[in-house]
Amino acid sequence: MNDLMDKIVALCKRRGFIFPGSEIYGGLSNSWDYGPLGVELKNNIKQAWWKRFVNLREDIVGIDAALIMNPKVWEASGHVANFQDPLVECKKCHERFRADSIKEEVCPNCGARDSTTPERMFNLMFKTFIGPAEETSNIAYFRPETAQAMFADFRSVLDTSRLRLPFGIAQIGKAFRNEITPGNFIFRTREFEQMEIEYFIPPPKQDADWQGVFEVWRKEMLSWIKDDLGVNLDKIHEHEIGTEERAHYSKRTIDFEYDFPFGRSELYGLAYRTDFDLKNHERYSGQNLKYKDPETGEEFIPHVIEPTWGVDRSVLVVLLDTYNEQEGRVILKLKPSLSPYKVAVFPLLANKPELIKEARKVYLDLKKDFMVAWDDRGNIGKRYASQDEIGTPFCVTVDFQSLEDEMVTVRDRDSAKQDRVKINELKEYLTKRI
Ligand code: ATP
Repeated sequence: MNDLMDKIVALCKRRGFIFPGSEIYGGLSNSWDYGPLGVELKNNIKQAWWKRFVNLREDIVGIDAALIMNPKVWEASGHVANFQDPLVECKKCHERFRADSIKEEVCPNCGARDSTTPERMFNLMFKTFIGPAEETSNIAYFRPETAQAMFADFRSVLDTSRLRLPFGIAQIGKAFRNEITPGNFIFRTREFEQMEIEYFIPPPKQDADWQGVFEVWRKEMLSWIKDDLGVNLDKIHEHEIGTEERAHYSKRTIDFEYDFPFGRSELYGLAYRTDFDLKNHERYSGQNLKYKDPETGEEFIPHVIEPTWGVDRSVLVVLLDTYNEQEGRVILKLKPSLSPYKVAVFPLLANKPELIKEARKVYLDLKKDFMVAWDDRGNIGKRYASQDEIGTPFCVTVDFQSLEDEMVTVRDRDSAKQDRVKINELKEYLTKRI
């Protein structure tokens, strides 16, 4: 890993954003746990997404489906037959790699030349058994994507809502892939979270019909990155996936890539999946998955546009993009709405009971509306530095003057400018800026 990645990993561990999973047992192959600050950042991202794409829209509804689905789902979707990566093994060190990760025939682990076995295909789905007997008839899979639940639940959603085409079904949840080479911190793990939407449209009469919807989603995804994540679009690249590389059912796929420190790689994806999924689920399940047009009475299988977002890659990009160093100090310039703490409250001195009492009052009152940090250690400078490092946008200091004039000092993370604000107007002041 390179410099910036190392710094992010170290910061995440030091401040409780993300730790190695099962660390007391030596970890477990690139698994990571979100700590107290990380879970707040991650939840803020998921909530912003849900609000934008579900709550604020009339045409999209959410679901939260089981992680283990009927294995027929994965036969119908093609995952049992096709969800596989080419695997090679180094004959010297016996490490296994995704074939495309071998550069110039050199083993990335031991450096041996021309030492890899021929490629063989490896299915990435995690298998498990349902019930007490470990028999083939009981095999099930942890879902490798959240998307298929939107197709499997399509009928139920349609029957219980009053949605009319075009409409979408959204979901946020865990997905599991037995990745051959996980790595680059939380970029590629075996267990991760996705935010996905299946946006259903009538079968297009001409290309322009689906192309228009695709274009709207392309812009929505860019706007999400810029406006909701607060990430600069300079490092985002749209990669048009060529016909050869594309899944056979997809008529168009764009990967939104980011210039990660380890190279340009996929952040999100957008695909036009035609009617492939619903058609197959209708065939495999024997159920009617058609939509009946309420005006014409015509029945048909809708087509679908699928925008998909990785939650963990969103967290990583936000951390990378907002990491700043000024005079050797770290400032995480997170968009305030994403910051784990919105504000920190300090008593100017820790050994003055009257200051502590007043500061606690301010702290407890703000806590009803915001995530608030409390700090009474060391000097003010150190406390500012400590909050800057975790991206807290505002710090409030209660001093002796506050006891007289009912005002506090509010210091802004990015400009370091200070304002005197009335305690009873603090909520309004912060709300406006967050
Ligand atoms: P890649 O080419 O990097 O393996 P993919 O094309 O297989 O990704 P999709 O199937 O399109 O990925 O999954 C949708 C999104 O889920 C991705 O854009 C990414 O943000 C996220 N994602 C996929 N695999 C992982 C993983 N192993 N760890 C973390 N996030 C992942």
